[in-house]
Amino acid sequence: MANYHLTIAHLYGDLMNTYGDVGNILAMQYYAKKMDADVTTKLVSLGDPFDPNDFDIVFFGGGQDFEQTIVAKDLPTKAAAITDFIEDGGPTLAICGGFQLLGQYYIGADGERITGTKSMSHYTKNQHDHRFIGDTIIKDEQTGEVYHGFENHQGMTFLGKDEAPLGVVSEGAGNNGADGTEGVHYKNVYGTYFHGPILTRNGDIAKHLLVAALKRKYPDQDFSERENMVIPATF
Ligand code: GLN
Repeated sequence: MANYHLTIAHLYGDLMNTYGDVGNILAMQYYAKKMDADVTTKLVSLGDPFDPNDFDIVFFGGGQDFEQTIVAKDLPTKAAAITDFIEDGGPTLAICGGFQLLGQYYIGADGERITGTKSMSHYTKNQHDHRFIGDTIIKDEQTGEVYHGFENHQGMTFLGKDEAPLGVVSEGAGNNGADGTEGVHYKNVYGTYFHGPILTRNGDIAKHLLVAALKRKYPDQDFSERENMVIPATF
């Protein structure tokens, strides 16, 4: 038995799981074990209640426009609670479609407007008959960490003034192919266009999420040793 325990909400995991994004949960379990923490994952999908107090980490994977339309119909029932979790410093990983849906809106390939939770200020426009597909390399300017991933999206996301990018693009298109940003880092939210899944290739992001979750759940404990853990690169 581990000394610590974390619970992950897998938001709409039965609908939003493009390219095996669920692998991010396996990666979190793997790294959590090294940190002496057990992980329980609960699927929170259409019609399910979401109580932010029940969870230590939220994971929201990517999806096709069709699934995003279905999810968007249910989102208003959870939007306020998701926003509360994020504003309270809840560690969150959001990939591609999930990243888009935590923002203001997403315009699908056919021009349909899909309203997000509006938890964060970014918004996503469509592009005409084109997708950004390929390998991506970015650098987090705050930590100096370099992340590797694979993007496949038509949406072009623009960050709000209160949002920092997850990294600056050195290869690939990133959020919109124009401003050199990729993903978002806002409070303890890591949003990105990286499928892959991101945490198996970029263990440092798993570490940041898990340490933030442990600190938040066990505020009297010292997790500095875990913060300094060296995570080997696996790409
Ligand atoms: N449907 C969205 C887009 O094409 C998100 C895609 C994804 O999650 N891979 O931009």
